[in-house]
Amino acid sequence: MRVLYASEYTLSLPEGHRFPIGKYSALHRMLHAEGLVRPDVISTPQRATWDQLSLVHSGSYLEALRAGCLSQKAARRIGLPATRSFVDRARRVVGGTVEAARLALVEGRAANLAGGTHHAFADRGEAFCFFHDVAVAVGVLRREGRLGRVLVVDLDVHQGDGSAALFAGDADAVTLSLHGARNYPFHKPPSTFDVALPDGTEDEAYLAALEAWLPRALARARPDLVFYLAGVDPFRDDRLGRLALSRAGLARRDRFVLESLREDAVPVVILPAGGYGPTAEQTAELHAIVHREARRVFGPHSRALAPRTC
Ligand SMILES: [Zn+2]
Repeated sequence: MRVLYASEYTLSLPEGHRFPIGKYSALHRMLHAEGLVRPDVISTPQRATWDQLSLVHSGSYLEALRAGCLSQKAARRIGLPATRSFVDRARRVVGGTVEAARLALVEGRAANLAGGTHHAFADRGEAFCFFHDVAVAVGVLRREGRLGRVLVVDLDVHQGDGSAALFAGDADAVTLSLHGARNYPFHKPPSTFDVALPDGTEDEAYLAALEAWLPRALARARPDLVFYLAGVDPFRDDRLGRLALSRAGLARRDRFVLESLREDAVPVVILPAGGYGPTAEQTAELHAIVHREARRVFGPHSRALAPRTC
């Protein structure tokens, strides 16, 4: 599986900052060390252009970011510095998702080692998300005439409010979000399918919900491409999660999603989304699970999927 990664994904933040930005470089190191990605399958994406971002985001929001004059209130909502280097980083992450989506359409699967920034809206960013990478990727590939129907499978523990808002009214997009009922965001615009889980939900109940809803979402979407937000914040020790999945539960979850997509021969883009473990290393270790499962499900080499017959 081809992987998009840039050293720019990890910038420095003040000690004690809530966003575990070191997890991206740690994940990259770990996948290397384990032989899960070879150097020849990793590429560095271009930053998304302002024109590409404008397919989703409002001119006034982009202009404020570009000019470095986002209001303090708007910057606080994002929770990351709205400096040139962080905006450039966010553009690079979007570029990675665009490129991964392009590759997945040809090779059947691809991953970006950052992204899944599902709390960004057209006119603002929130909760560590400047731009909505998936919506921009969909916009770019549709403009190129490469993409029609999409499904967003969002298993980050926080509801995909930005995705719900941006894909509302898009007849060719379906959004599925499994999330903590009592967790952020506290206003949850409706996804196509929202599955709200109580605090403390463990493996069996979580997997039962996934097994019930993913086939429905796939049947409704009949997607040309799936974006899988494999957030690891449903993990029991996550600082922001409130659910109680085990490591084995996360692996079963990822395997079920990827096997379902392989069965339907649907291309998939894998994105890490959220994860807030005690350390960047521990969080990266959880993000590595989906790559291990992808290797198990798809095998070590990129092979094109058989063409769909209907
Ligand atoms: Zn999250």
